Amino acid sequence: MGDSFLEFDKPQQADLDKCVHCGLCLNACPTYRELGLEMDSPRGRIYQMVQVHNGAPVTPSYQEHIDLCLACRGCETACPSGVQYGKLVEAARAHIAATAPGSFLARAVRGFVFGPLLRSPVLLRIAGALIYLYEASGMQKLVRTSGLLKLFGDLGRIEQLAPPAEPPFFFSQIGKTFPAEGERRHRVAFLAGCIANVSFARLNEATVRVLQRNGCDVVLPADQTCCGALHVHAGMREEARRLARRNVDAILADQFDAVITNAGGCGSTLKEYDELLEHDPQYKEKAARFKSLVRDVNEFLASIELNPKLAPVERTITYQDSCHLAHGQKVRKQPRHLLRQIPGLTLKEMPLSDLCCGSAGIYNVLHNEMAMSLLEKKMGYVNSTGAEMIVTANPGCMLQLSAGARIHGRNQSVAHVVELLDESYREYERVNGRN
Ligand code: SF4
Ligand code: SF4
Repeated sequence: MGDSFLEFDKPQQADLDKCVHCGLCLNACPTYRELGLEMDSPRGRIYQMVQVHNGAPVTPSYQEHIDLCLACRGCETACPSGVQYGKLVEAARAHIAATAPGSFLARAVRGFVFGPLLRSPVLLRIAGALIYLYEASGMQKLVRTSGLLKLFGDLGRIEQLAPPAEPPFFFSQIGKTFPAEGERRHRVAFLAGCIANVSFARLNEATVRVLQRNGCDVVLPADQTCCGALHVHAGMREEARRLARRNVDAILADQFDAVITNAGGCGSTLKEYDELLEHDPQYKEKAARFKSLVRDVNEFLASIELNPKLAPVERTITYQDSCHLAHGQKVRKQPRHLLRQIPGLTLKEMPLSDLCCGSAGIYNVLHNEMAMSLLEKKMGYVNSTGAEMIVTANPGCMLQLSAGARIHGRNQSVAHVVELLDESYREYERVNGRN
């Protein structure tokens, strides 16, 4: 398994006791909406956790119901009793990983992906180069248009969700400082992610430019690493702690007004480092200081006076909430507030914009059928708005929605909020010059 297990990582009695079994969360749960099964609802999953907590064995059935949860935390928003469902499901997965670690092959793959791969820029660069070769050689186009994918079943469907490679990769920027444009108002650190440095290099560049245009010195601390969100969701809490300690040290070695992330999923975990490290006497206090600095880029930009040199972008868009931004961080108004400041842009809200699109980290790979079913419904909501672009605030959602637009949509383009701001700033500068 490659990860040791600590008793306090199990679901705790006090957290389980908060659930009063009222069922008000059921309709907010994507898997319950799909299957109509109590055992695949938040209430049913908590009931199963209680049974295991009271001594029932970890069975394959328990594992299946816990695994099928998207950890989207829609139930947390709906719950009137303050159940921290995200914390509970992460703890249940850590317990499952410790008691039912799976086959040798599963453990080896898991150990490699969640171990060396996600923390190594060299390995991520190699993986990115291989993906780029597949895309640029025409192989991908051939595979997608030939109908070959259908022969490979699940693997074929998963191919459509594979992250792209965007050379030059953003790793080359780590360690640099980008100065504020105009008067310096803030000094911020930007945590650029792990896979995002390969697959969303242009988004990371746009994020830096938008922050610079808003008076920020943008520092990319050299010692930063993967935030550990994927590890936490998979129950690999000890490896997540190793990564968290490294990020805490990288940030606290300097002075920043804020630590910025452009990924809703990463931000949610970064803001919970205090919980992850609460039993570590050396890092407990440092993690709380770190947490106090973390801001999603939407949250940060909405909290300062936005540079108004924005050119019109004549486009109709719809906004898809990232689950971990909306339910995990309660950041909903800020991205909409920023979008409304771009002249010419028309925002058409879709129904159920905060219902999970099925991305959920690597969920769409592990539970492809459920993920694709959720995506199909999501694209129905998107299509009903007539929007020509889907805007969101998390790279994982961007990948899933791009696949959705190709498969079930009208080929709508997909962008992050900061990419639209960047487009608008650049157009303003093209027309008016830099003044
Ligand atoms: S999680 Fe909350 S909303 Fe759902 S059943 Fe328990 S108390 Fe009710
Ligand atoms: S986290 Fe999402 S999928 Fe899991 S139980 Fe809650 S609402 Fe359902």
